[in-house]
Amino acid sequence: MITLTGKTALITGASRGIGRATAIMFAKAGADVVINYASNELAAAEVVSACEAQGVRALPYKANVANRAEAAALVQKTVSDFGRIDILVNNAGIWKEAAIDAMTEAQLEEMLAVNVKGVFYVTGEVVKQMKQQKSGKIIHLASTAGQRGEAFHSHYAASKGAIISLTKSLAPELAPYNIFCNCVAPGWVDTDMSHDALVAADKEKILSLIPLGRAGTAEELAGPILFLASDLSTFITGEILNVNGGAVLVG
Ligand code: NAP
Repeated sequence: MITLTGKTALITGASRGIGRATAIMFAKAGADVVINYASNELAAAEVVSACEAQGVRALPYKANVANRAEAAALVQKTVSDFGRIDILVNNAGIWKEAAIDAMTEAQLEEMLAVNVKGVFYVTGEVVKQMKQQKSGKIIHLASTAGQRGEAFHSHYAASKGAIISLTKSLAPELAPYNIFCNCVAPGWVDTDMSHDALVAADKEKILSLIPLGRAGTAEELAGPILFLASDLSTFITGEILNVNGGAVLVG
């Protein structure tokens, strides 16, 4: 039922974790994919090979999304190589700890630059292309933290809250152009980002707050992202899809 054949998808932060799983799942569904990454060239090359093995075109593009010029170049390169952008997944993100009274200017600035400004930069450029096409699907990655907060990660939680309100703003702004904007909000997912916390001595505290009793896998996030990118979700825009084993209900 789900096919992305003939579509081009740009996925930020696709060298590892949820972005990687999403790129490979999109390739299985037939999409050509752009694998954006910040620095991990080897990991990006591995994802490209895994996507090409599905018979689609895949290219790795290095760009720091927090840099406006690099974000613009990423989008322009995608359009010049593939001719169009049908799907944007704003997945690149960072998660770091900082108590509010110890948070440095650099820590706050980095978090907002990558998790918020990066999404604005890439989306702004992609929307220019999607408006010309009169179609497009944009999927942001937020977090349970953006809805219920997260102690000692207030800058992260605030960045993801911003992504949720961005989603709700862009849905009506872009609907006249047949551009959809939705958001997937993961709970705990076992990736490089969260692995240390999920194997730490007090991991039971985390697991006890997840009704399904475990962290999710990157693939379990890629499926809902694929749904929102596909033609099975043509009446959904401005939605926040929680994928968290029920955690947001009890956290
Ligand atoms: P991850 O395993 O740490 O992977 C992060 C990816 O983002 C990598 O591909 C990395 O590239 C890329 N990246 C980081 N900074 C970048 C930048 N400035 N420009 C371009 N790319 C950049 O992360 P993940 O767990 O898959 O998380 C993906 C998204 O889901 C994030 O937005 C995160 O906040 C959200 N999320 C994750 C969890 C979780 O438990 N894992 C929970 C809630 C929300 P390199 O490989 O080159 O470094």
